[in-house]
Amino acid sequence: MSDCKPTRHFAIAIDGPAASGKSTVARRLAERLGLIMINTGAMYRAIAWATIRKGVDAADPEAVKAMLAEIELSCGVNNGGSTILIDGMDPGEALRQDPVNARVSKVAAIPEVRELLVAKQREYLTLGSLVMEGRDIGSVVFPNTPYKLYIDASEEVRLARRSAEGLADVVSQRDAEDSKRKASPLMVAEGATVIDSSEMDIDEVVETALDTLRSQGLPA
Ligand code: C5P
Repeated sequence: MSDCKPTRHFAIAIDGPAASGKSTVARRLAERLGLIMINTGAMYRAIAWATIRKGVDAADPEAVKAMLAEIELSCGVNNGGSTILIDGMDPGEALRQDPVNARVSKVAAIPEVRELLVAKQREYLTLGSLVMEGRDIGSVVFPNTPYKLYIDASEEVRLARRSAEGLADVVSQRDAEDSKRKASPLMVAEGATVIDSSEMDIDEVVETALDTLRSQGLPA
């Protein structure tokens, strides 16, 4: 499946930089609209976690490609959200921790990693209509969906949000790596509406997102 057309299911694409609030918005939209929420960042994080477990250098594309052939990656849905297992194991909280933060943009820059994960992301559409969040959802995964948002926030606000969550994260470094890579860089997709959430609380962002999606044709 290459896009929304083969089924009646549809995808809402939500992209944006790290800690822009897109995961929270995506989750709230999925709850309000009764859709499945897919966190694609967790899929790239799971590959980074696998490199740590296997002792593979995340910055070595050949080694990471060889590892892809050896691991079993299972993507599913539970309680309306996406789940991921590597060799039958759930990485859990390790996905949000420093070692993964430091490696994830490196594995995400490898085209073969992206091909594998984009195929799995498109398969989710067979299960139902989706809210999918990431970096390339509107530009690469579902370029033909009419429903596209890009959630942004100033760097200062994004860093403050991460530290309020009690998480240290290399937000600026990941953004730089994600924006300048050759394979599917972070960008505002054609047809996407940018919502700057710097001065908004989460309820305002969700309402703005819903209004925007309706103006893009989403049925009320
Ligand atoms: O969304 P999150 O911050 O958890 O994503 C972690 C990393 O995964 C990003 O910094 C980026 O390198 C990668 N990613 C990506 N494409 C996506 C989702 C995430 O390259 N669609």
